[in-house]
Amino acid sequence: MVDKPTGEYEEDRRILLERVISETRETAGLTGYAQLSESVTRALATVPRHRFVPAAQQAWAYVDRPLPIGCGQTISQPFIVALMTELLQLNPQSVVLEIGTGSGYQTAVLARLARWVYSVERIPELATTAAARLRELGCNNVDVRAGDGALGWAEHAPFDAIMVTAAAAEVPPALVRQLKPGGRLVVPVGSPYQTQDLRLLYKDEQGVVQGRSILSVVFVPLIQDPA
Ligand code: SAH
Repeated sequence: MVDKPTGEYEEDRRILLERVISETRETAGLTGYAQLSESVTRALATVPRHRFVPAAQQAWAYVDRPLPIGCGQTISQPFIVALMTELLQLNPQSVVLEIGTGSGYQTAVLARLARWVYSVERIPELATTAAARLRELGCNNVDVRAGDGALGWAEHAPFDAIMVTAAAAEVPPALVRQLKPGGRLVVPVGSPYQTQDLRLLYKDEQGVVQGRSILSVVFVPLIQDPA
């Protein structure tokens, strides 16, 4: 696939955005969100998804589905990226932790909305590529590191919001600890390669955590290497 000039993706991106907006409306009964906020819509409309996928996948960059990014991993479906971002209710002061950098696409979307994004990726090769790509695209409020995201990133905790983009068998306790009172955590919970339960957790000002299920999703597993 030959790379098209960036302008030629505009129409594809507009169609994708419409698809995401209508999918948001159709799932409102489950998610509680009939509309994407303006800031999330703008982030989705501006981050060039074709720059985050391998050349062989570029023709499908603006189709609403996950795509392979190498190392057996995938870039998430745009609708799910939009929904998970919306659920965090970010503002320009938010400091966010993301687990599972992958291509860096979701990181770039978060970085448009938040003050700073810390992102942890288990596979060093993906972490290095994503960090370089984000830098190239002028995304300079992001730190990426290779490591086990289930442990969070204690040096920068607590976080206003945490997003996990790989399926965990249980919500990693370190992440709950590293969430600020008043903060939100979104995480797919369940067995690998089956449908999982996308969960939204909220820590109230007293530190009490409540959660609700949002939607069935399919993510690659959150892998924890033996210590
Ligand atoms: N948000 C990504 C989607 C990545 S898929 C994107 O937009 O492209 C999930 C990613 O989680 C994979 O890259 C995988 O390597 C990573 N991952 C799996 N287990 C992990 C762990 N314990 N810590 C950090 N990253 C992990």
